[in-house]
Amino acid sequence: MTLTHYIGGAEIEGTSGRAQDVFNPATGAVIDQVPLASTAEIDRVVAVASAALPGWAATPAAKRAQVMFNFRQLILDNVKDLATLISSQHGKTIDDAMGEVARGVEVVEFACGIPHALKGEFSPQVAGGVDVFSMRQPVGVVAGITPFNFPAMVPMWMFPMALATGNTFVLKPSERDPGAPMMLARLLKQAGLPDGCFNIVHGDKEAVDALLDNPDIAAISFVGSTAIGKYIYSRGCANGKRVQALCGAKNHMVIMPDADMGQAVDAAMGAAYGSAGERCMAISAVLAVGDDTADRFVEALAPKVRALKIGQYDEPGVEMGPVITAESKSRVEDYINQGEAAGAHVVVDGRNLKLQGYENGFFVGGTLLDHVTPDMSVYRDEIFGPVLSVLRPKSYEEARQLVIDHEYGNGTAIFTRDGDAARDFASNVNIGMVGVNVPIPVPVAYHSFGGWKASMFGDHSIHGMEGVRFYTKLKTVTSRWPSGIKEGAVFNFHAGSDS
Ligand code: NAD
Repeated sequence: MTLTHYIGGAEIEGTSGRAQDVFNPATGAVIDQVPLASTAEIDRVVAVASAALPGWAATPAAKRAQVMFNFRQLILDNVKDLATLISSQHGKTIDDAMGEVARGVEVVEFACGIPHALKGEFSPQVAGGVDVFSMRQPVGVVAGITPFNFPAMVPMWMFPMALATGNTFVLKPSERDPGAPMMLARLLKQAGLPDGCFNIVHGDKEAVDALLDNPDIAAISFVGSTAIGKYIYSRGCANGKRVQALCGAKNHMVIMPDADMGQAVDAAMGAAYGSAGERCMAISAVLAVGDDTADRFVEALAPKVRALKIGQYDEPGVEMGPVITAESKSRVEDYINQGEAAGAHVVVDGRNLKLQGYENGFFVGGTLLDHVTPDMSVYRDEIFGPVLSVLRPKSYEEARQLVIDHEYGNGTAIFTRDGDAARDFASNVNIGMVGVNVPIPVPVAYHSFGGWKASMFGDHSIHGMEGVRFYTKLKTVTSRWPSGIKEGAVFNFHAGSDS
């Protein structure tokens, strides 16, 4: 089956003549073909979104919010089908897919309250007869470029906020699992969104470049790897667009000697191996402070990693699925090879995993590396697979410095019973999202999501009030109405009329 684009409320076949396979990563079988848009197709969709903009921007915020209320209900009504679609193309378990939808729905719920978030500020009588008020107006046509790992949630970080604030939207989802966004587009239409306000074009670099260069795109939200994010940020900004680019990560979990080890091990298990480690907030490095802490951690974690039930998303009891592509599998395995060659201890080895019935699937087993050092590529680079590295800093200060010195700054966590250490950590690390005894500190939707350092380019994080700011322009009006009113004056607005 070949997927279509979604333009102006209709499913439109691609005309570029280029397409790409979509796989079931558990079997390696091709299950779909996704069209790859040409520059001409991008220019057409941007024209459609531009035509829809004036009407939608002028729609009262409460009416736009009503569409979001309807949309929320439709997602909840269809959540099983949506989750199954996500799992079938991404490979994550149904529970993980349901979780991703739930986090996306939170943003829709925030968008339901958009009239409140758009209220401006007012200062009366800043000078004689002069009042100042501010308003937030939509930026225009917005493009979203999204990664494979959360095919529903990450687009939902963007478009509910952009639409609710009065913009129209063009989504370029990941070409590796493009099914879920198409379903969301149909639900938006059912929810009452006017045609043309939300559009999807599939594609690769050609489509992205066309969006970056199209003068009618006002803003770009990107989520994906750092190399591509840097490129999108610089080219988009050079073309005068507003750009937010949320990028790659290497998230550390510091375990202090006083931590509740049972809690820390369970947390690391979910945070490192959930969704096969393909989460930008996955924990991929544990900094266990002191050898004794590290020994206790590795001893408790290793049997759990060995016992992980790996398989296709719809098998009962499956805890972890495959990685997204054959290339990802070999990249992850190559990193494990490099770590081993550099002297890391391979405590649990996920390489060369063969599952009966899924011999061609892209599976990598849970992998645990101990005695990793900061110079190793397994520590420096984002692996984006089910591989956890354990480092053994001697002190809290050494652990904190490792977090500070790392290139990435998306999320981090500290596990401790010591409030002083936790407070120092949260205050002093240069990381966008910090957890205290919380391994994946993804903020709820009414706060904002975003990293520091190489994990984000741009000034505004995503969703919450930062999302409102990104998708709106501030206008401030200073008005003078010098009063000519005299005591006892009578207004006659109808002077000169028949009445
Ligand atoms: P990716 O960078 O390969 O792709 C992201 C998007 O960019 C896709 O839509 C893709 O089609 C497009 N793209 C790919 N190559 C391009 C090129 N050469 N020119 C222009 N566009 C191009 O990322 P991915 O592999 O889909 O996703 C995984 C990455 O996303 C990881 O690095 C992960 O950390 C990151 N991520 C970050 C966050 C965050 O919030 N910081 C969230 C999720 C994922």
